[in-house]
Amino acid sequence: MVVPRRPSPFQRSGLTPQQQDYQISRKRMIAEQLIPAGVTDPRVLTAMAKIPRHLFVPEGMMSQAYSDHPLHIGEGQTISQPAIVGLMTQALELKGHEKVLDVGTGSGYQLAVLCELAKEVFSIERISKLSNRARRILYDIAYVNFKLRIGDGSMGWPEEAPFDAILVAAGSPEIPSVYLSQLKEGGRLVIPVGGSESQDLVLAIRRGNTFESKVILPCRFVKLIGKQGWRET
Ligand code: SAM
Repeated sequence: MVVPRRPSPFQRSGLTPQQQDYQISRKRMIAEQLIPAGVTDPRVLTAMAKIPRHLFVPEGMMSQAYSDHPLHIGEGQTISQPAIVGLMTQALELKGHEKVLDVGTGSGYQLAVLCELAKEVFSIERISKLSNRARRILYDIAYVNFKLRIGDGSMGWPEEAPFDAILVAAGSPEIPSVYLSQLKEGGRLVIPVGGSESQDLVLAIRRGNTFESKVILPCRFVKLIGKQGWRET
């Protein structure tokens, strides 16, 4: 007589052991990195608990995808540390109806988080190879509420303005002036501002023709290279 084997917990869940591992890694990322860093918005935590961050990093680095540091994604660029993604996203206070501009598509991970939390997202990247790779990953995991552009995001995306929120994932010597005119009244912008080696992560809210701004925390981002950012060297 053959005694049928009980399905293992992995078989019962329908997930492979590796997928299970990444689910556990995401839960640990939330508990050990995001919440201690001050990310408390349940919508942000739920989105980041769901999105498969490991698919956005180069294959050889998947096992490090949920670690508490940025990772290289090729072309001299990085995917930001999970807690920074969480804090930047939380600062935008998205409710689900917004039109958002994302500057610096990079791997596409931040864009995926924004696609979960807003109505539509417009994302600009200056390096075409990164933009094309991000598009493939986002389509593979079935996001459709975004548009990509290859170009200089320091000039914003005037044809699609005004935006409810703008997130800039590269450091600029100052806030590009075009972002003010491309934000709705009361719209929120998060951007690293400062020198090439270190910056302050700034939240700026449009109040008429000016910004009311505050520093969220010190940070270190790659340069925003463009007409209203750093010159290419
Ligand atoms: N948000 C990305 C992610 O989730 O992987 C990480 C962005 S990475 C820290 C910064 C990105 O900004 C790089 O991919 C870089 O090529 C891009 N970048 C720099 N200057 C830019 C500009 N003027 N316009 C658009 N993208 C720019």
